[in-house]
Amino acid sequence: MNTVAVSPVLPVYARQDLTFVRGEGATLVDADGRAYVDFLAGIAVVGLGHCHPAPLAAAQAQLERLWHVSNLYWSEPMIALAERLSDRFGGARAFFCNSGAEAVEAGLKYARKATGKPGVVSLTGSFHGRTLGALSVTGQSGKREAFEPLLPHVSFAAPNDADSLAPAITAETGCILLEPVQGEGGVHELDAGFVAETRRLADENGAVLLFDEVQTGVGRTGTFFAWERLGVRPDAVTLAKGLANGLPIGCLLVGDEAPEGFAPGDHASTFGGNPVACAAANAVCDELTDDLLAGVTATGLALTAGLRELPRVREVRGAGLLLGAELGRPASEVVAQCAGRGLLVGTAGESVLRLTPPLVVTAAEVDQALGTLEEVLA
Ligand SMILES: *Cc1c(COP(=O)(O)O)cnc(C)c1O
Repeated sequence: MNTVAVSPVLPVYARQDLTFVRGEGATLVDADGRAYVDFLAGIAVVGLGHCHPAPLAAAQAQLERLWHVSNLYWSEPMIALAERLSDRFGGARAFFCNSGAEAVEAGLKYARKATGKPGVVSLTGSFHGRTLGALSVTGQSGKREAFEPLLPHVSFAAPNDADSLAPAITAETGCILLEPVQGEGGVHELDAGFVAETRRLADENGAVLLFDEVQTGVGRTGTFFAWERLGVRPDAVTLAKGLANGLPIGCLLVGDEAPEGFAPGDHASTFGGNPVACAAANAVCDELTDDLLAGVTATGLALTAGLRELPRVREVRGAGLLLGAELGRPASEVVAQCAGRGLLVGTAGESVLRLTPPLVVTAAEVDQALGTLEEVLA
């Protein structure tokens, strides 16, 4: 292990003392040559597994052809990705950036421009990123407090409490923002009735309905977008984590029926739409067939059932392969013990164990992970 006593890195992360040097599928190997089963996948990023041949080949071919052109011009991978995502959404236009927070920032600016109204209604417990705008709409005061004052005109309703929505909406509300499954906030799934009510209220109040699918998108919950499961189509959606299987990318998609917003000069990102990242993302989209997505649902159900059998697991929540196990005690201890036994898992809040394995994780790997968890939790 590479213990760096005085690290030249700013201390914003509570890192585990592990250094990984390579990966394949759901396996990661550390600097000492020790193998781990990866049930975190870079926090729902490496959906096809580490070094998957399809995005690898696409990115490699693109690296040898062209790395970067300014957004003053077009690139083929960027256009191709916009077309694929539009098809998946059922008609949309894309803005590309490099991360989830940036995609949320683009969504907030789009909603303001499209409605002329600055207000945002978000949900308590939500997570939308760490930049100042995204942090302003993140419903976790512990993450916000040290950085206040943040954006004004933000109010928070309670997830799955439809009665809390209307009081949060004012004449200034231009955006209703939600994650179909709250990820960082503890893996809490929104119910379809609540989400349908956000659609109704957004329409009634001339607000944009924006879904943050940075974590839930790109097949993570068993459909390409999580909104497909809920049967509620938003005006706009953000994607990032799983989109390029680990290369940096973010995206705001605005549906073709949504109000006009952006005009030239309104927004930009130097690296947005990077040809290599977009080439990898095109390969990811092509791999996410109906069969693969059905596998995500089936494996998610099997993993959920297995987690429910484990000692000391109070509740299992989530959808597809975005799962949280409520432990009722600090989950970080369990995470460290699992790592010691060759299993990588994460946390979502204090007491929730988060499992976001690659979408292609095998039944044998699921059994292995459940076996390790059983030992640790017993
Ligand atoms: C991870 C996440 C973000 C932030 O993404 P970054 O790439 O870390 O900026 C935003 N929204 C949701 C729902 C996320 O899970």
